[in-house]
Amino acid sequence: MKKLSECRFHLRTYGCQMNERDSDALAAELLAAGMSRTEIESEADIIIFNTCSVREQAERKALGKIGITKKLKRDREDLIIGVVGCMAERIGSELIDKMPHVDFVAGTGKLHMIPEMIKDALEKRKKSVETGHDDSECAGLFGSLSRRSDSKQQTPSAFISIMRGCNCFCSYCIVPYVRGREKSRPMREIVDEALSLVDSGVKEVFLLGQNVAGYDPDSGRKRDPDASPFAELLEKLNSISGLSRIRFTSPHPADFNARLISAVLSLPKVCRSIHLPVQSGSDRILRLMNRPYSADKYLSIISRLKDSCPEMTFSTDVIVGFPSETDEDFLATRSLMKTVGFDNAFIFKYSPRSGTKAADLPDDVPISVKEDRNRILLEDLASSVEERNKMLVGRTFEALVEGPSKRNSERWTGRSDNNKVIIFDPCVGITPGDLLQIVITRSTATTLYGKILQ
Ligand code: SF4
Repeated sequence: MKKLSECRFHLRTYGCQMNERDSDALAAELLAAGMSRTEIESEADIIIFNTCSVREQAERKALGKIGITKKLKRDREDLIIGVVGCMAERIGSELIDKMPHVDFVAGTGKLHMIPEMIKDALEKRKKSVETGHDDSECAGLFGSLSRRSDSKQQTPSAFISIMRGCNCFCSYCIVPYVRGREKSRPMREIVDEALSLVDSGVKEVFLLGQNVAGYDPDSGRKRDPDASPFAELLEKLNSISGLSRIRFTSPHPADFNARLISAVLSLPKVCRSIHLPVQSGSDRILRLMNRPYSADKYLSIISRLKDSCPEMTFSTDVIVGFPSETDEDFLATRSLMKTVGFDNAFIFKYSPRSGTKAADLPDDVPISVKEDRNRILLEDLASSVEERNKMLVGRTFEALVEGPSKRNSERWTGRSDNNKVIIFDPCVGITPGDLLQIVITRSTATTLYGKILQ
């Protein structure tokens, strides 16, 4: 029998950036326990699936992959299979009932228990299931989040989780049920983590939370609706010398108040690119979604940002085919998207998630209509981005160098402050994290090409 420290783990991640971040933290925890990481599944002693529950499709994909490992385990009895994250939280012990080859199941609030669960599986062949949340465990998990310490290429950017869970209860969303209620991390702890990341060479931090604009480490204290603890956090991070950029995702429009708008506009390190999920342009559908803002309120946030900073770019999330969505509702979404001129949008066809309020509504928009609406929005988006990209040819941007391009390692990529990815030929001595002036020489609907200004 192998010892924990002799084991190699293979970690697969599904879903959102929060999950990526959890996987980074989990990898750090397993490395600290003495294990090593492998990207090659067949070399691994332990295969862990960090799963997502937000979309049914992501769950199906993960379940399919977990199912395939049954055969691997038949050939290698000592192989350990773990399922963690949102889907593990949602399904719990039923996962082992349905897939007896799985050894442990850990929900989003129990990731810190995984080394112990692996040890039990190794030494006692014991199967374990841990789900649920409580405050002390949440604090423990935050404490374990350090930096991107895995075998992936080090980049100049790092994620920092600033909160977990969500209190918003959008009617279609499973997150509050699987990630629990909002719990914000103390500000001092986040700043300390950013300082240590900067010490280790990180130039850009990406703040993560289900609703970062609702960040509130003193929750319970009655909050002034005009205050924004998240804006205070941005100010503190902005003053860290050596840190060049701050990004965040996702803020809820209902919490994007005047205080936060003014912080975003006035702090030079906060990037000129905001992801602001709108979900629908129809007020009626927004009410059904339990999203407490109107299309006008959403547009007023965008115009206040854009009027003061025309360079700012925006991205969003949209759901088409929500129960009872009419052509008129859809056209309201289409029109809002054209008004904003998003640079990116994640457009989803509605599908009910059991356990949510919206799952009680009839899923009455035919799939063919959902597909049409999805296609129309994607086409609108592609043509407007292509037009705007053309106008950038000849302009110069300061780009944070990310490293060799994934498609062609002879070319490198960098990212502008307003989140445009630029591909360029590297110069001698270039390293990830450099800030370079790059002039745009060519554009396509998806990509900008540029040349380093000497
Ligand atoms: S804000 Fe709404 S959509 Fe986002 S995680 Fe919370 S409940 Fe889900």
